[in-house]
Amino acid sequence: MCYDPGRSRPGALAFFFLDMRVWILLWASLTGLLWGCSAKPEPPPQSADAPNVILISIDTLRADHLGCYGYGRPTSPELDRLCEDSVVFADAIAHAPSTLHSHASIFTSLLPHNHGAAWQGKTRLADECLTVTEVAQSAGFATGAFTGGGQMDKIFGLDQGFDFYEQPGAKDFRDIVRPATAWLDRRPDKPFFLFLHTYETHHPYEPPARFLELFDEGYEGELPDEISVDLLREINREEHVLAEGDLEHIVNAYDAEIRSMDEALGRLVAYLKEQDLYDDTMIVFTSDHGEEFGEHGKIGWHSHTLFDELLKVPLVVKYPAQEHAGTKVSAQVRSIDIAPTLLEALGLPVPEVFSGSDLTPLADARQSESRTAVSRMDRQASKDVDSVRTPDWKLFRGQLFDLNVDPEELWDTALNRPGVVEQLRLELEDAVASRERYSGPQVVPKGATLDELKALGYLQ
Ligand SMILES: [Zn+2]
Repeated sequence: MCYDPGRSRPGALAFFFLDMRVWILLWASLTGLLWGCSAKPEPPPQSADAPNVILISIDTLRADHLGCYGYGRPTSPELDRLCEDSVVFADAIAHAPSTLHSHASIFTSLLPHNHGAAWQGKTRLADECLTVTEVAQSAGFATGAFTGGGQMDKIFGLDQGFDFYEQPGAKDFRDIVRPATAWLDRRPDKPFFLFLHTYETHHPYEPPARFLELFDEGYEGELPDEISVDLLREINREEHVLAEGDLEHIVNAYDAEIRSMDEALGRLVAYLKEQDLYDDTMIVFTSDHGEEFGEHGKIGWHSHTLFDELLKVPLVVKYPAQEHAGTKVSAQVRSIDIAPTLLEALGLPVPEVFSGSDLTPLADARQSESRTAVSRMDRQASKDVDSVRTPDWKLFRGQLFDLNVDPEELWDTALNRPGVVEQLRLELEDAVASRERYSGPQVVPKGATLDELKALGYLQ
């Protein structure tokens, strides 16, 4: 069952409110009963020995604009160094091209169809949904978050399980890393689970000049250095016709934002090494969705399709003690696999309600199979809002794309391959039907949250 161990619950789950020592003693005998997972003879980690976790989500970060994912421009030297100590999942798929929908899948290991948290309907993540944070908190981890607010505002319910969930009102990652390291300086004497989120690579693109110069040398067009949301709206409504070099200029500004974010990531990693925390910390670096630059009709935009430029995200996992360092996994994986991977690595049981599964068997070559990814657009009133993706095929809006010969997803082959279409449809139905569907209450953004949402282009 889906439940929240941090709040009052009736019935058999009340033992979560017992003293932690009693809880630990009960652990080995009751986890199979409670979580419905396979027997786990090990007790949970003692505080002194457990690794820490830092889960980093860089909003709107395309995987293919990063050096460790093959990009030819110097956007990510610090991340590339981190990748050398990590497992790089080359083919990671997000479950939505928008922020709340996608992050809720990361935290609950449920598809958007099932967790129900949605921006369009202003639907908060249901309190009954279990998050990876709540499991970590129950096991004695100090849990904290620094996020960019907006669709990540705590009113949408992603704060479940966090001891604190701060929204510093900052777009740049350095303004998230700074309070995070300040908190680490005074952290409690127990392992921590820290979530960091930034909108630095989300529009508007306003990179520091020193980073824009790295990528934009020679641009002589009329667009400003800072690419505003209003300008992108005009371009996408075809009220502003791009001249030669303008699209490249916009992409340059996006790349410069990545480089600025990357510098802050480097500061965080340097801090962890200075404080002797690096080896004992599991770092997961990912994004909630990508960004389109003209592949299917819009520029500097997301949330409107389920094509790969919006679904392929980075997923880099640095294990404690740099285990599996340098491994590159080519099998397709999904954002819902992050939560179970974290819990398995921490020695904690994976709740049966989670729909993803541990990625470590792919990292140590016990498995090699790809995992089918179901994604959904956050469009309340629209039809055809789902996609199903395997390494070979993508089904979206009734169209079938052969990704081996048509990676740009331009040619519909559905009429030629009805069997594949039917198989993918069944996989979608099975994936959604395999878990309960939750629906949280509606919320009304106010005050600073409204301002953040307007600045990010979610509201006009
Ligand atoms: Zn986002």
